[in-house]
Amino acid sequence: MSRINPLSLGPSDFEALMVSWGYKPFVARQILTWVFHHNVTDLDQMTNLSKSIRGDLAERLTLESMADVEVVPSGDSSATKFVLTLLDGKKIECVVLHEKAYNTLCVSSQCGCPVDCKFCLTGVVGFKRNLEVHEIIAQITVVQQRGFPITNLVFMGMGEPLLNYDNVFKAIDIITSEAGFHLSKRNITVSTSGYLAGIKRLIADQRAINLAFSVGNANPVKRARIMPIEGRNSIIDVAKTLHDYQSSHNRKLTLEYTLLHGQNDSEQDIKELANLAKYLNAKVNLINLNPHIRIPFKPVSSSQMAQARDWLKKLKVPVTIRFRRGQEISAACGQLGESHLAG
Ligand code: SF4
Repeated sequence: MSRINPLSLGPSDFEALMVSWGYKPFVARQILTWVFHHNVTDLDQMTNLSKSIRGDLAERLTLESMADVEVVPSGDSSATKFVLTLLDGKKIECVVLHEKAYNTLCVSSQCGCPVDCKFCLTGVVGFKRNLEVHEIIAQITVVQQRGFPITNLVFMGMGEPLLNYDNVFKAIDIITSEAGFHLSKRNITVSTSGYLAGIKRLIADQRAINLAFSVGNANPVKRARIMPIEGRNSIIDVAKTLHDYQSSHNRKLTLEYTLLHGQNDSEQDIKELANLAKYLNAKVNLINLNPHIRIPFKPVSSSQMAQARDWLKKLKVPVTIRFRRGQEISAACGQLGESHLAG
């Protein structure tokens, strides 16, 4: 009999399953409390369950999602990368970004990514498969087990989250539920490269979530050169759909803009970005490219970065520069996937 991972079920479905096996509902709740409040994934450590219950459940349940966990701290302590080997041997990566008062986990939604943005190492890796619900949730458990309590979650690791919509949002529902980690939805951001069908589904499902949109270039012709997704998901349609989405709730929208030397850093490029930001009432995050031998672009200089920021400020667009952290451990934005290329 193949064992079921309760982390892939919502709390009520897990309770129903346990009841169908003849257990009281509170036994299900005890197990979820161990997992979500104490980060315990070993049934034998769940000491308020009797030995016979643990023995029986060990045959029916598994709480394991990872075959191996490698922890790679950055030299400046600003980030810690986790290289996680899934049970089928495939690898994913996630990164804890250390702030003074809290930790943000940059979580993966897919193993690899099919979107192939030309400035992203995960795109170079290509697509392996979608992550299961329990594999998304386990990324939080694994880092918390190693002493990094997570308060903020960004789906900016490997993969396009809206291409794994069902599993990503089921995981978010569990993560935010009282029986789960009880994380605030306001502390979760889902990043998209502009997958139209996914944004439309967010509207249809009336899902209010902070979104980050990876722009690449606000000009459709130039965008298509660095983001092939533009072919079927024109930024003009994406902007209209994001506008509709924003008008249906009050969650934040951020435009992520990776600066590529000579590709999207001219004054005209920044003006078009500013127009998009104003239309969407969004703030802009400027990110410098993390250079890699497999990426055919160069980063901009610090003065070019400051110039882009100043152009945006002059055009009255809220802007921040996101500094590259964990670059030397390939944990920075767009760098996840090194473990695949090294292997
Ligand atoms: S930037 Fe995001 S969507 Fe684009 S290839 Fe990388 S992981 Fe995929």
